[in-house]
Amino acid sequence: MEYRTLGKTGMKVSIVGYGASPLGNEFGPTDAAEGVRAVHRAIDEGINFFDVSPYYGRTLAEERLGAALEGRRDTVFLATKCGRYDADTFDFSAPRITASIEESLRRLRTDYVDLLQAHDIEFGDRQQIIDETIPAMRKLQQAGKCRWVGITGYPVKMLADVARRGAVDTVLSYCHYNLMIADMDDHLTPVCKTRKIGLINASPLHMRILTEKGAPDWHPAPQAVKDAGRKVAELSRAAGADVSAVALRFCLDHPTVATTLVGMSKQPHVETNVAVLSMKIDPALMRQIRQAVAPVFNAVWPSGRPENCD
Ligand code: NAD
Repeated sequence: MEYRTLGKTGMKVSIVGYGASPLGNEFGPTDAAEGVRAVHRAIDEGINFFDVSPYYGRTLAEERLGAALEGRRDTVFLATKCGRYDADTFDFSAPRITASIEESLRRLRTDYVDLLQAHDIEFGDRQQIIDETIPAMRKLQQAGKCRWVGITGYPVKMLADVARRGAVDTVLSYCHYNLMIADMDDHLTPVCKTRKIGLINASPLHMRILTEKGAPDWHPAPQAVKDAGRKVAELSRAAGADVSAVALRFCLDHPTVATTLVGMSKQPHVETNVAVLSMKIDPALMRQIRQAVAPVFNAVWPSGRPENCD
């Protein structure tokens, strides 16, 4: 495994990070025992950064991750979130954030998390996030409930704006840097670089578009993006490569991102995703992929309040 420092936090995180949303059945039903084996396998392979949220599986992912980390909690960095609790249930107020961490800590079977992140801030009021949510998380930091404080969400311009104006240690952006898109670098990456804010890139497989299985039914991307993903899978197969491995490898080469979070609930996926560390993408395949995705490159979809969309 390779490790990079996450901004000013000093945490040396594995460049492949464990996304725990599949443990909450966000991509379809998963086997609890296999989920535990996947988490243990990941730790054995040197993955030390785990990301979860009360929202994933409406607390199921935190419950499962907490159980899997029993006895190994101290060997990993654990990140969870607050403020999002269901598809349409958000509460970024200080009292809710303060209660939320206690609930998460119980489910995660620990007395602190390494990183607490306001989850999907584009669904909240931007000024409240800056004036109330982040300061509430800072108070939890002073109380020893979390070591560091961050934000997560989809619209990169909003994330960059809040990172500029609010006191955050990390920013988690998803589906804005991978084989299908790169606009994270136009807006968010420079802000994180200048301010030494830890940058976490999530969803390297574009939430399963870049897999043999393809996108889940709920995927918000335009159909043309999903079709381009099928084409990338075909091209990879023809070149004797696995589309998911190619997609993850591409993300790992980003120079500023500390960790790339890939969602996992199965041991074989952990094995493939770690093996990617010693893989190189064939330049001819890369050229073909770039051509195939060019018509939809940088395509986005709406997320959150209209005023917060990019
Ligand atoms: P992803 O792009 O990582 O895709 C995950 C899907 O790909 C899952 O169905 C998984 O089973 C499958 N998969 C993983 N490895 C595979 C492999 N080698 N071969 C085939 N299939 C494979 O999307 P994601 O899970 O949404 O993102 C990763 C993580 O990032 C999440 O689990 C979560 O922790 C975090 N995240 C956070 C936010 C947020 O805070 N707003 C948003 C998105 C993601």
